[in-house]
Amino acid sequence: MRTTNWMVTAALLVSLSAAAQQAANSPSPAPASAPDASRGSQSSQQTAAPASQPADAQSAPVAQPLPATAPTTMEEVVNLFIQHEHDLIKMLAKRTPIVETYLQNLALDPQLGPVPSEDHYFLGRMDMGETIDRKDYLKEQDKSMEQRLMGGFQKLYKVQYQPLGFSWMIYADRTDFDRNHYDFRYVRREFLGDVRCLVFDVTPKKDAGRGRFLGRLWVEDQSYNIVRLNGTYNPAPRNSYFFHMDSWRLNLIPGYWVPSFIYSEEGDFSAGAKNKMAFKAQTRIWGYDLKRGNKDDELTQIRVDSVTDETPANQDASPLQAERVWQQQAEDNVVERLVGGGLLAPEGDVDRILQTVVNNLEVTNNIDLPRPVRTRVLLTSPLETFSVGNTIVISRGLVDVLPDEASLAAVLAHELAHIVLGHNLGSKYAFNDRMLFSDDTTYQNLGFRHIPEEEEAADKKAIELLKNSPYVQKLDNVGLFLKALQARAPALSALLTTHLGNPLSSNGTVTRLAALSTQGPALDNAKLDQIAALPLGGRVKVNPWDDKAEMVKTAAVAITSARDKMPFEVTPFFPRLSRYGASAAPAAAPTTAAATPNPGTPGSN
Ligand SMILES: [Zn+2]
Repeated sequence: MRTTNWMVTAALLVSLSAAAQQAANSPSPAPASAPDASRGSQSSQQTAAPASQPADAQSAPVAQPLPATAPTTMEEVVNLFIQHEHDLIKMLAKRTPIVETYLQNLALDPQLGPVPSEDHYFLGRMDMGETIDRKDYLKEQDKSMEQRLMGGFQKLYKVQYQPLGFSWMIYADRTDFDRNHYDFRYVRREFLGDVRCLVFDVTPKKDAGRGRFLGRLWVEDQSYNIVRLNGTYNPAPRNSYFFHMDSWRLNLIPGYWVPSFIYSEEGDFSAGAKNKMAFKAQTRIWGYDLKRGNKDDELTQIRVDSVTDETPANQDASPLQAERVWQQQAEDNVVERLVGGGLLAPEGDVDRILQTVVNNLEVTNNIDLPRPVRTRVLLTSPLETFSVGNTIVISRGLVDVLPDEASLAAVLAHELAHIVLGHNLGSKYAFNDRMLFSDDTTYQNLGFRHIPEEEEAADKKAIELLKNSPYVQKLDNVGLFLKALQARAPALSALLTTHLGNPLSSNGTVTRLAALSTQGPALDNAKLDQIAALPLGGRVKVNPWDDKAEMVKTAAVAITSARDKMPFEVTPFFPRLSRYGASAAPAAAPTTAAATPNPGTPGSN
């Protein structure tokens, strides 16, 4: 068993380092490293078939839009996508997806160009009903989203979200998207990924009022749904300001393109420009189909059934067995709760890669644990790991920025060390009452932070594990990664603020595996072949509908300057769009197949 897995590693190593190269190589305007969640949906949809899930409002069957009669004029196309936009708003009205915004303020570096000078992080549930509302997962409840989004800038501008709330970046116009308020001008046809689109410029009519969409729409040419919006809102009220945004949708369920990624950027670093407000931000939306995500029934929907007793039949558990079952119960409770709250990906492809790396560490160190070590992906961006029972959790953001398999092994080794050393946290979560809390208080109700002595012991043990493993040859890369992290740490306090596990740094100094940080060559931005850390978003893509995570497949793009490296930075999104079910077997159970607008051959007409 273990031998088999061990053999997998060579291929894994190659694919990981190739991905590292490619992701790091993304050029700034259109990185190939952007998540490609549309692809991610295909394999998962076959089994998940969310549209056919029964139960509460959040997972209620999705009503299919009526099949479109083929339009013969552009006027008819405009009418169709206006109608479909209203259908989408209606379909999503009962959903409360997770919205994460990670924003980096920028300052100009002569060598590296605009680099992060500070950062801000927001995570909440968005109620997509009549009144757009966010429930924040993070603690500073007293500060409004707007204040915190603006960071130090609120004195200069007040962010104007009215009348659309946060959804202004999700829909072109929530209330008045029609011909009375807008002029639509057909521009051309254009492919976005596998999807042929009609491109329209949209301008608000003269007296349409403030905060109207101004920009460009891409409309797919089979059912005429908007798949991308790029522009801003206009005119801004006095003393206010609208961000520019590039908003992408994915065809994750039959008949609908679901808002998934939004990139925003402001700032002008040309000579003489007043650089008052420079930032770039990624907003990700996921958790549309959380099984117990309805805002009204958070407590009633919680499953409190426990794990089955693993002891053999006709035999009572020994005290040690009882202790292990207890820990397993706590572990399962936490994993289930985090998946239910939309913070943890269901078991999937990425876990298999992570598990192979953990397995390599175990095999070469002769570690034989009574229960197998499992791995799971936290869906959020901040760089963190933690473990509960024998489950190691690593954040999507951290997997994204790690340059190679050895660095991945290093961060996993720290958690494996906790497990090997018996630093078991979280057994209190075997009491089911401790799982009864609303999703937005997850961070207040769950925590897996070790005391400093255990952190130190885990780091020491982790290095021992690494030195016995095949990764010993590559520890220079780990050292380089830690140096890159240190170089950016003072500017990235939000990315380094953990919410469930121990932080990797303390007061701007990287503490995790510090003994390895002197290893390897000096950090040298000018060396184009030295990839110490990757931009965010280059590795893991998440399906916003069912939260499944998988590894990104990107094509190599050559790095041509130090500015292309962008370690730990956010970049624009450029998902490769494809239609639901394209290049995959027909989905398991779309209930209204007749209305499914997807014939399956991308770009066939
Ligand atoms: Zn630790």
